[in-house]
Amino acid sequence: MGPDERHARHERRYQELVDELRGEFPRLRIVNKATSRLHRAIHHGLRVLTLGGMTAYLDGYQTTIGRTIYVTADWDDRDPRERYCTLRHEAVHLRQFRRFTLPGMAFLYLFLPLPLGVAYFRARFEMAAYEESIRAAAAVYGPEHPRRAGYRAHVLRQFTGPSYGWMWPFRGALERWYDGVLARLPPAAPAAGPGPGPTEGR
Ligand SMILES: [Zn+2]
Repeated sequence: MGPDERHARHERRYQELVDELRGEFPRLRIVNKATSRLHRAIHHGLRVLTLGGMTAYLDGYQTTIGRTIYVTADWDDRDPRERYCTLRHEAVHLRQFRRFTLPGMAFLYLFLPLPLGVAYFRARFEMAAYEESIRAAAAVYGPEHPRRAGYRAHVLRQFTGPSYGWMWPFRGALERWYDGVLARLPPAAPAAGPGPGPTEGR
């Protein structure tokens, strides 16, 4: 299979997920974040609140609010495998908003028990969503991918660093959570013989 064919297959898998989500959430919108005044305001608010620690909100993070997924301006140019994995993460948040409602989510996500430092509910919501990121990464790039030190460190940093306002500083608990997610990954598909490059997902 040539690179064009592979790319087309990845793109198709992303589109299939979008279609599935539109079936589950008929009012789903995927919107460019940079055009939203609200998100520009959040961006500036976060920069101030985290004393400059979080400056990537507009360019580096996709954000779900209610039934809308706000994406970065370069979304359509990103690798379809990355878009697929991110969308699976955001789908978890769509379901959380459906379950807890928008005001409920906003309150729990932003304020309980603290907006910064120890944000129990935000950490729970993000653990559920990052578990899905990890599962998606294993499906797309192969089961070894989320076991790589770099990937693991990146995910754990989301909880302990400024990106989400230092939402869960308990390193040991995070390490155990991550190991638990890895242990629950579905077993790898029987190897189809050694192939070049990263394992293809299905
Ligand atoms: Zn998230």
